[in-house]
Amino acid sequence: MNRQFRFFRMAKGSLRVSHIGSQQGAPAIRPPLVCEIFDIFTQFEISPQLLQAVRRSGFETPTPVQREVLPSSLSGRDIIATAETGSGKTAAFLLPIIERLRQGKPGRTRALILAPTREIAAQTAQQAAALTRGMTLRTVAVYGGVAMNPQVRALRSGCDIVVATPGRLLDHYRRGTARLAALEVLVVDEADRMMDMGFLPDLRRILAVLPRERQSMLFSATMPIAVLELAYEEILRDPVLVEVGSQSKPPATIAQSVYLVSSERKTDLLLDLLQRKAMRSVLVFARTRRRAERLTKQLQRNNTNASCIHGDRSQSQREQALKRFRRRSLRVLVATDIAARGLDVEGVTHVVNYDMPAAPLDYLHRIGRTARAGSDGDALSLAAREDASVLASIERTLGRQLPRVTVPGLTEPERPRTSPTPARRLSRISRGRRSSFRSRRT
Ligand code: AMP
Repeated sequence: MNRQFRFFRMAKGSLRVSHIGSQQGAPAIRPPLVCEIFDIFTQFEISPQLLQAVRRSGFETPTPVQREVLPSSLSGRDIIATAETGSGKTAAFLLPIIERLRQGKPGRTRALILAPTREIAAQTAQQAAALTRGMTLRTVAVYGGVAMNPQVRALRSGCDIVVATPGRLLDHYRRGTARLAALEVLVVDEADRMMDMGFLPDLRRILAVLPRERQSMLFSATMPIAVLELAYEEILRDPVLVEVGSQSKPPATIAQSVYLVSSERKTDLLLDLLQRKAMRSVLVFARTRRRAERLTKQLQRNNTNASCIHGDRSQSQREQALKRFRRRSLRVLVATDIAARGLDVEGVTHVVNYDMPAAPLDYLHRIGRTARAGSDGDALSLAAREDASVLASIERTLGRQLPRVTVPGLTEPERPRTSPTPARRLSRISRGRRSSFRSRRT
């Protein structure tokens, strides 16, 4: 159990902590062992109709987070769960919602799932639609960047599950098209992001209009202590705390490596790396919208099949790029951190940090876009000299030094680190604080 959870249990005393220590090396989703042959979804109190939908989705064995969360969430308890990326957490909150909503009057919004990005909201709504096929339950995805009217019509014609980004949901609420008075279940996905300064005011406005009597579930791959405290004070009631795997350990199926390179040579190095045939489906992270845009153009000029997603692109451009990437008709998707969390694209072979992330948590989220559902993946980080301190803090978080790879003529030798002067140390600390709990424009 890590320090945060130990602290939290001590502080709150009454919490039941449910912890599965998954060693580094265990993939998030793996085939069942013979001794687990009975460890199937029938062990839970799930109706035959939902079991059928689960099977149709190709889920045979519950993942660790599903095994831990389902007994409590099906019984109506509040949940706060941290789980590695790709661990199956979406189904862990959708199944109890669907099971509950199958009973009772349909057509009223009884479950609300909040997500930080349009892409995650759309993806979650798709999974909800697949799991409710053949039932009378309707799911509506509500997010910005697209016309209001189709969403207004969908909300007015009656829906049971709303998956939403906070800003657009509030727009609908103020217009009277989103009705939340009958709400029974709230899910906050990617909870640490949803509680940073950018989202927290909207999240609070939404919480203020929800019925107090409800089940609340919070999910995230990482859960800083400040978020835990806030969640406990403002959202949850007597929650079950579930921690699956280690927050600082990405799945061992991700091979991580570092290329030390000057800022000016990053694009040349990336183009050189892209000559490898194994790089079939590559997600490249850039620091800013402008850098993402510029890199995409450079790649396209060099005959690389590339596109990009970031906050300045229209929703239809974002959807189009993502759709092509999912279908493998786009080889390279360049993105800002907008794509770092929660995105589930099957078969991403490589994640490339063209620019290093601002903090170790962002690194974990980014590299979690590969090696989904137990497959293998590579995470390559292009680190320039100015990235030395963030690279060091990523390695401290991981508890090991990442292997350096050299490419003759492109990479640079490692430089010995000089200890910072007290003034520089101070400025780094305050930079680190800002980056761990801040509002970002991606
Ligand atoms: P998530 O962590 O919810 O983004 O899920 C990651 C991927 O795992 C998704 O593609 C899910 O469809 C898949 N998945 C979820 N639960 C299971 C399961 N029990 N067995 C196999 N795959 C699963």
